[in-house]
Amino acid sequence: MIKVIFPLILALLSAFWAYSDFSENTLLILTFHGVTDNPQLPWEISYLKLKDCVDKFENSGYRHISPDLVEKWLSGEDRKGRFIFITFDDGLKSSYHAMKMLYSEKQIFSGIFLITDFIGKPGYVSTEDILELNSSGFHIFLHGKSHDSPQKLEKMKLVSDLKYASKFLSELASTSFRSWYAYPYGEYNEASVDAVKLSGLRYAFTIDGDSISAPQSNLLLVPRVMYLKAPEDSSESVFHDWLPPDNIRTGYLKILISLFLLMFSAFSFLKRGSDKQ
Ligand SMILES: [Zn+2]
Repeated sequence: MIKVIFPLILALLSAFWAYSDFSENTLLILTFHGVTDNPQLPWEISYLKLKDCVDKFENSGYRHISPDLVEKWLSGEDRKGRFIFITFDDGLKSSYHAMKMLYSEKQIFSGIFLITDFIGKPGYVSTEDILELNSSGFHIFLHGKSHDSPQKLEKMKLVSDLKYASKFLSELASTSFRSWYAYPYGEYNEASVDAVKLSGLRYAFTIDGDSISAPQSNLLLVPRVMYLKAPEDSSESVFHDWLPPDNIRTGYLKILISLFLLMFSAFSFLKRGSDKQ
């Protein structure tokens, strides 16, 4: 009898393990930078590759989430399901085009973290672009007045920069600006986190490369996952930790078939036992 019960328990445990892997409540905030036909830098990506990444998440059961719901998630409410939110850092014109294409092709409203000193400079979004994003349902956030590392700025200088830049964006993009900040280069220390707090910003994001499944102890250190080109010799995507491998469907089908066979043989064994009695 134990020979039947033991493998059955094992089979059920492994099925539960596989299921929980697939069903864990997860929020992933993805970060992209330049979107170009010919990516040169490790953080640049082509639009087709970007769309492929998004498709992979969607095909793995992830749904898109709004900033309202991200805030609820961070506060511990409504934490059911698997979600992604797409963001772009730096305010590049190429990100602006990608945001508009993601909307026209897939009805996705993404968000952009802007550096106010760069607005209107070559390669960056203009005031008109921001007004257009603002009135079309996209989301505007802050990436700093300058792109200097927050670790290198004197604390009170960072506070006044952040106050100035958030006021500027909240007036320019009054519908869509949210009190969200992304640390340039993902760099922060105790003084910079304190400066963000003193400036009145409510949420601050790192690129520490983690999903958000547990309640956040510090809303000024919320992790995002930044796209970086995987090394040439690697077949894995940078987001592979959160995506099942390409052959996952066959993999799970195999598990199901083996479970079925295991249970079938167990039942035959039990039936044979009872027939003998
Ligand atoms: Zn940046």
